[in-house]
Amino acid sequence: MLAEIPRAGVEQVDEAVARAKQALPGWRALPPGARAAALHALADKLAEHREELAVLEARNAGKAIVDARGEMGMVIDTFRYYAGAPERLLGDTIPVAGGQAFTVREALGVVGLITPWNFPLTIAAWKLAPALAAGNTVVLKPAELTPLSSLRFAELAREAGLADGVVNVVAGPGRTCGQRLVEHPDVAKIAFTGSTEVGRSIAAGAAAQIKRVTLELGGKSANVIFADADLQAAAAAAPSAVFGNAGQDCCARSRILVQDSVMDRFLELLETEVAALRVGDPLDESTQMGPLISASQRDAVSSFLDGQAPVAFRGSAPEGAGFWFAPTVLAPVRPSDRVAQEEVFGPIAAVISFSDEADAVRLANDSMYGLSGSIWTRDGARALRVARAIDTGVLSINANTSVRVSTPFGGFKQSGYGRELGPHALEAYTELKTIFYATEG
Ligand code: NDP
Repeated sequence: MLAEIPRAGVEQVDEAVARAKQALPGWRALPPGARAAALHALADKLAEHREELAVLEARNAGKAIVDARGEMGMVIDTFRYYAGAPERLLGDTIPVAGGQAFTVREALGVVGLITPWNFPLTIAAWKLAPALAAGNTVVLKPAELTPLSSLRFAELAREAGLADGVVNVVAGPGRTCGQRLVEHPDVAKIAFTGSTEVGRSIAAGAAAQIKRVTLELGGKSANVIFADADLQAAAAAAPSAVFGNAGQDCCARSRILVQDSVMDRFLELLETEVAALRVGDPLDESTQMGPLISASQRDAVSSFLDGQAPVAFRGSAPEGAGFWFAPTVLAPVRPSDRVAQEEVFGPIAAVISFSDEADAVRLANDSMYGLSGSIWTRDGARALRVARAIDTGVLSINANTSVRVSTPFGGFKQSGYGRELGPHALEAYTELKTIFYATEG
């Protein structure tokens, strides 16, 4: 067993919210430079403990240690980036008659953060850092399966000097603790990452109090490969875009759309790349993909091998204990097949062919989701046309990147609303206030 921790309930949520409420005036009133210094101290503390946190995350989530190290790097960078924010929460001055009007950004208050198990501390950091920078205090509810890095984070925040009550972590079930956060009258906003189904219920619950909500939900992103692309580069990049984190990634490019004239050649190249993927012990330095998070997740992923689309080829996976699932490529897949429409959240890629640019755009948009995606082509004008035509929150051209600390990230359609990261995230953790100062009469 990795760890045993007490399971929080509604009472602990209420206590955490009360503490966050008590800490709010002090944290909000800190001069911007002091709040910036506190966030830098926290980033320093996290950097000191980077390897420990990476190992904890790898062991708890079953992710490859090399990935976990990269994620902890992003966690630290996220706190450093938003440490610059308290002194840059700028407003506008607006010309009006009879005086001076200007805007300021105010903290929301106590913010509830509900996070998933796929990138536990990374996604928590995307919410914690801008929320704290803007002067809010927080109650974080990590997923029950992966609470360890968030609990350790709370200890490190205290060691870094953050006052009691500024950061609170409640490790308990979503249906009790998460729901209580949504319903609690002293929680001003919920920032959520998880399934579209739970996101929908959170939005409905929050509506009763007009509570602010941001939602990062599911995805079914397209990786669009045109015949004129550097096929070798596209094939080399495709596996990590869908099998990274064992496919448990809302940005997974799990629909690979390939122009029909190069389909055979692309599949040949892809097969070689998939065969080379190293699936194994998360703590082995050479591992690229670990097991799935749970038995039920493996059952859910397996259900997509339902015979609707043929298995073209699979990579390898260890036998025996562990929720292993070999990286799997289905081809040819019809756009109406279940695997082409629903989020798998596991290492299965659906390869679909298209005829021309219009067909590619039509298929890429044939989804209720719109979170991420890639386009591979050597034709720059086409790349930009297609990028504008696909309904999705983030897109890469000849690359796979979805998230950077300094650029906004979030979804179109049923992938959610609101943006994380970049300067835009601060808007989601503040209210805009207009002040008029009369100068005449
Ligand atoms: P959920 O959406 O159920 O869980 C995400 C978070 O919400 C967890 O902290 C969970 O708590 C909490 N939660 C669950 N129910 C409620 C509720 N009624 N009120 C408030 N909070 C709640 O995702 P799962 O972990 O069950 O994963 C299921 C599927 O969701 C995946 O297979 C995948 O398709 C998708 N998903 C998408 C993610 C993304 O990054 N967009 C991330 C994770 C999942 P707890 O776990 O403690 O119950």
